Amino acid sequence: MRDFDNKTAVVTGGASGIGLALAERFAAAGMRVVLADIEASSLEAALKTLKAQGAEAIGVEVNVMQRDSVMQLAERAMDAFGNIHVLCNNAGVSTTVGASSAIGDLCVWEMPEADWDWVMGVNFAGARYGLQAFVPHMIGHGETGHIVNTASLAAFIPGGGPYGASKHALLSLTETLYLDLKAQKSAIGASLLCPGFVNTHLHRSERNRPVEVGRPAGLPETDSKMAMAGAIMASGDPPSAMAEAVFQGIQDECFYILPHPQWDVQVRARIDHVLQRKRPLDIENVEGVTDQLQRKAS
Ligand code: NAD
Repeated sequence: MRDFDNKTAVVTGGASGIGLALAERFAAAGMRVVLADIEASSLEAALKTLKAQGAEAIGVEVNVMQRDSVMQLAERAMDAFGNIHVLCNNAGVSTTVGASSAIGDLCVWEMPEADWDWVMGVNFAGARYGLQAFVPHMIGHGETGHIVNTASLAAFIPGGGPYGASKHALLSLTETLYLDLKAQKSAIGASLLCPGFVNTHLHRSERNRPVEVGRPAGLPETDSKMAMAGAIMASGDPPSAMAEAVFQGIQDECFYILPHPQWDVQVRARIDHVLQRKRPLDIENVEGVTDQLQRKAS
């Protein structure tokens, strides 16, 4: 897709971080933007920012965990702007940020159902509902378009608990989406954004946890992990760099958008371990990774 002027983009998780940066980049290219987010106050603020930059935009409150809510988002977007050309399934939450597989000190078999439901619900089902709500329309109108799902480097490395599992699932979903779109000879492209660390509010995802997936009492304290996660995130790249990589990726029809080549060593090490029929790799043991994490946290 090369022509963005007067086209329309929908961005979930658009009120903060990478989503807001994507919206700003699309608006700068002359697109109309639909910002969709669960957090009403930051949605309002983001919309104000975008409009102050001269963008034609609307904000829609959505909970991407709920299929009906995403279907309503599609209706609102089409009512406001007609054909939709770019869809970014970007909303995401994390119970933990970093290399560990645990929430606090919980092992994978101890994690509460609520956490699995929440993280898989937002990061995986949310994107699936986005495809169900928008792809038939995007194919149907016949104009060129593009879908970007925000995964993570966590889609390519072992560990990460529910977050890692959700991003692996999103990798598979998006590869299948690409193949299906190609088989249909549609004018819609697809990309998977896989960032390393980006300076956003992801480590404060608990603010977005709906009451129906509330945390059970008595879980281990995670304050020290939170502090470390906050420091690592703060040292990450600016969200605008991800938006630029996505914008370029859409134009170049690049499927795997990996804006952090310094982490290629992890991805390669994982694939090497698989092909050498070895046991799963603890990523902290990959040469250079512990150093990188410690440098970022300090
Ligand atoms: P962020 O917390 O700044 O933004 C996430 C947005 O998603 C927020 O505005 C939040 O309100 C929204 N959201 C959360 N739950 C929602 C729901 N149920 N329905 C609708 N909106 C919801 O974090 P971010 O880093 O900008 O995250 C964007 C995406 O980038 C996520 O998918 C995340 O997994 C991915 N990612 C981030 C990093 C990083 O280092 N920040 C790295 C890799 C991948």
